[in-house]
Amino acid sequence: MLDSEYGKLIVEAVRPINREYYADKLKYWIVKSDIGTERNAELLTKKIFDEQVPENKEICKGRLATSMRCTKPAKCNGYCGFHQKQYKPPVGSNVNGNRIARPQNVPTLL
Ligand SMILES: [Zn+2]
Repeated sequence: MLDSEYGKLIVEAVRPINREYYADKLKYWIVKSDIGTERNAELLTKKIFDEQVPENKEICKGRLATSMRCTKPAKCNGYCGFHQKQYKPPVGSNVNGNRIARPQNVPTLL
């Protein structure tokens, strides 16, 4: 096996671990700093890892009575008009910083 092929294999093996690690870090940092939502963090992670970014059409985050995801376009705060009551304000800087549940730290190989 050529060195370059071997290198590619290693990169491909480590990539999902890196992605998960940085996705957790970005999500925690973006939500805690009140810069954006978990969805913004996910979009940024996709951009960083060269994945396809979906169209800018946001879909409602609400749940139907059958616990399926709603498929209507979002209007306000990521929810459609019908599911607005399911919106919960994000945990922001007004919460004691020591008591915020952090995403579980994923050990890194780097
Ligand atoms: Zn909805």
